[in-house]
Amino acid sequence: MKNKVEQTVAIIGAGVTGSVCASILKDKGFNPIIIEKSRGLGGRLATRKTDSGLCFDHGVQFFTSHSEGFQQLLDKSLNIGAIETWSPKLFDDGVDVSANWFVGQPTMNALVKPLLQNIQINFSDEVSSIVREGKNWRVRTTSNKAGTSFENVICTVPAPQVKYLLPSETELANEISDVEIAPCWTLLLAFERSLNLDFDVWKSNVGNVTWIARNSSKPFRGENEECWVVHAGPEWSKKNLEIENEEITSMLLDELRAIFGVSFSNYFYAVSHRWRYARTIRPLMRPYLGTADKSLFIGGDWCLGSRVENAYESGFSIANSLIKKSR
Ligand SMILES: Cc1cc2nc3c(=O)[nH]c(=O)nc-3n(C[C@H](O)[C@H](O)[C@H](O)COP(=O)(O)OP(=O)(O)OC[C@H]3O[C@@H](n4cnc5c(N)ncnc54)[C@H](O)[C@@H]3O)c2cc1C
Repeated sequence: MKNKVEQTVAIIGAGVTGSVCASILKDKGFNPIIIEKSRGLGGRLATRKTDSGLCFDHGVQFFTSHSEGFQQLLDKSLNIGAIETWSPKLFDDGVDVSANWFVGQPTMNALVKPLLQNIQINFSDEVSSIVREGKNWRVRTTSNKAGTSFENVICTVPAPQVKYLLPSETELANEISDVEIAPCWTLLLAFERSLNLDFDVWKSNVGNVTWIARNSSKPFRGENEECWVVHAGPEWSKKNLEIENEEITSMLLDELRAIFGVSFSNYFYAVSHRWRYARTIRPLMRPYLGTADKSLFIGGDWCLGSRVENAYESGFSIANSLIKKSR
């Protein structure tokens, strides 16, 4: 058996799943390389900052912990100041807040940044295919069309995108065909003056709009700004998925008017963002899938649920499976 460091490991995606997995493998003597199609870390753990300094967490709103393992990561992150608790004023006191709400600070992806120190990450490089080559896997990307051969590949992209990367004969792609991830249209709004509303978060499990939050009520988001994030519901987002951003912006403003009257009218910034794959509706119900020889793994939040903690669980399980195989 080869030394662990000599085993080549490619991890596709620098979201929570890929970052957790890379960090555990690095600690155990592996030398993983992450390939990430975007320019930054965190995946859906995302914050948009405008040139004029406005700040919007347009993906994950907050994360909670229900397991010992994830809580340990959160405790470490709290200790180094990478995350902070968020206690917004809720519109409806009936909303379940039995668990603490945490956010990255100053941006959401601060949760994963410390995990990725000393790990090679190839940014702005999109994987286009993963093909068997003897015992190895050839990973082709936009910047390396011929591809690189790796002994182990861990793919953490959203389930519906996996089938575009794996060869059709790979059994793994078929096994995840029932996994469903709903889209989410997001509206980012900024106001010159405080709206003077008596809540920071409005939340609903049904309806065309399901979440409205004053982003500026989160720690280190610029207290004096008045930036709000609105999420459309999964059904509404699916129905209107292919509509142009400008039209979605005006449709969502109409939805807000129907709920709150003129409260959200005097904005100076209004932009929509489409998440084609946002929250899992039907998970796999297993922490990951792997080939029989445990050289190719696929995973992500969608394996177990729709939360950051589920992504952590998947990344943790994949890393430990590869470590066990390599003993
Ligand atoms: C609008 C919205 C709101 C949410 N709210 C919450 C919330 O409040 N609380 C909560 O716990 N969770 C929430 N979630 C869910 C949460 O974002 C996910 O559970 C978690 O971030 C998933 O992490 P992941 O690493 O599995 O996937 P991702 O974060 O999607 O990471 C996958 C990574 O792979 C990269 N990638 C994709 N394809 C390729 C390719 N071909 N080549 C290279 N790289 C590729 C992507 O760029 C991305 O960085 C929300 C999600 C959205 C979108």
